[in-house]
Amino acid sequence: MTTTRVRPARPDLPARHVPSRRPRPRRRSAGTVVAVVAVAAALGWAATGALDAVRGSDRGDAPLAAATPSPPAATGLDPELERRFDAARAAADADGVELSLTSGWRTATEQQRLVDAALERYGSAQEAHRWVLPPETSEHVAGLAIDVGPTDGALWLEQHGAEFGLCRTYANELWHFEAATEPGGTCPPMHDDASHGWG
Ligand SMILES: [Zn+2]
Repeated sequence: MTTTRVRPARPDLPARHVPSRRPRPRRRSAGTVVAVVAVAAALGWAATGALDAVRGSDRGDAPLAAATPSPPAATGLDPELERRFDAARAAADADGVELSLTSGWRTATEQQRLVDAALERYGSAQEAHRWVLPPETSEHVAGLAIDVGPTDGALWLEQHGAEFGLCRTYANELWHFEAATEPGGTCPPMHDDASHGWG
């Protein structure tokens, strides 16, 4: 039986001159990335955000953003109120004004605690009722009100809120806003204070 030996391809070259068997990974992988991106685009992966993840998502793609479903409101706020506030906050940010949520949805227990604290602070129910509503009628407990800050942000929102359907609703609380009109609408007259909500 004869053993067939495999001969080197180029036995005339010294070992150090044998061409490297390593491919040229840099050029090949660049081509692969281009191909993957092209294929992803062709398959419509952009709609899922996969292409955005490849490219980075700093281009402000409105269609992509619109295609991404809103997550459930973990804040307890009414989703429409939350959408309006998010839009207003972005516009304030573009104006160089900080606008943040200082209080949104509250549980009935939290609201009752605020009522008790106000009674203690003001010493009279009449005065306390100007500042805080009972859990049964509080718009915060219903997820329909937001308190915003800091003061500059609240003043910005009072000036621009109607564009987003957000209205300041109490004359004695410059921080309290509700979705009291349609975006672009006119805000209703403010209540003097919260006392009307105590019946
Ligand atoms: Zn409030």
